[in-house]
Amino acid sequence: MSARAYILPVFVPHRGCPHACVFCNQRRISGAAMPARAEDVKKAIQEAAAFLPKGGKRQLAFYGGSFTAIPVKEQETLLGTAKEAMDRGEIDSIRLSTRPDAIDEAALSRLKAYSVETIELGAQSMDDKVLHLSERGHTAHDVERASELIKAAGFQLILQMMTGLPGTSDESDIETARRLIALKPDGVRIYPTVIVRDTALCDMWQAGAYEEHTVEDAVRVCAKIVPLFEKAGIPVIRLGLNPTDELSGGAAVAGAYHPALGELVKSRILLEKARALLKGTEPGSRVTLLVGRGKASQMAGQHRENIRRLTEEYALTDLKIREKTEADAEIVLLSIEK
Ligand code: SF4
Repeated sequence: MSARAYILPVFVPHRGCPHACVFCNQRRISGAAMPARAEDVKKAIQEAAAFLPKGGKRQLAFYGGSFTAIPVKEQETLLGTAKEAMDRGEIDSIRLSTRPDAIDEAALSRLKAYSVETIELGAQSMDDKVLHLSERGHTAHDVERASELIKAAGFQLILQMMTGLPGTSDESDIETARRLIALKPDGVRIYPTVIVRDTALCDMWQAGAYEEHTVEDAVRVCAKIVPLFEKAGIPVIRLGLNPTDELSGGAAVAGAYHPALGELVKSRILLEKARALLKGTEPGSRVTLLVGRGKASQMAGQHRENIRRLTEEYALTDLKIREKTEADAEIVLLSIEK
């Protein structure tokens, strides 16, 4: 999404979901207690008209449930309200999220009839063991089948994956990323697992049957996954759950919940690149690294953690960071002196 594109979220928490996946409590994640009705769709559009600056693209999004598994009449009421607003020019497009096993030709032709543009598919993992332990109720093959149908029907496809689910490993999460890349989505969201209050996962963790996926675990594995998507030209449009008052106020009891997770991952990617550049540097060296415009603080890391680590690991006397004029320039080793 460009800076001038706005998503107007309307939540349908757990509507259409055949059961709760172990990690999920949409009422706590989205903060919405009740599924949206037609009035809520109208309200979201009116509020956007009042508060959003003119000129940006507005996309109404049905999130938090399995939209295409909601009873058809209810889907049509919500989509019909959104489509009328689109015909009046109040919004530009419609997007929604759903499950892979709730996609078939009939569901897609219904969405086409209401001019839905983007479908977000919760893949979560491409490892059937992980999907089973997370009680997803679908397989990796369902993700492939649904993705192919969505693309063939001409929708924009966004795939969502998680890291750190029960039974997974860094290798399994990296393999999930590779298999999602093969499906050529238009973008991905990566959600490292957060242990949310009132979920089966929280019970499993408290009983010692699930080991927490910490912020550090998430940063480590995402720093390997994000470059894979970037190299394939697939934008990572979100990394980590959106911080909310509910989650920050105690609903996120453990796991990879951090309001700036995306920044931590970018910072770790730069740390790994710097390590590769500094390999073989003689102890006592004075080093200057050159990074893209605006990336000096990412390179330095939170509380200058990257500088501390690199200085220690390579026994440097001094480490300086300079910025280039181009924002997307690759990190380079500008100078190295004894
Ligand atoms: S993860 Fe998706 S399918 Fe599973 S319970 Fe949550 S909203 Fe429903």
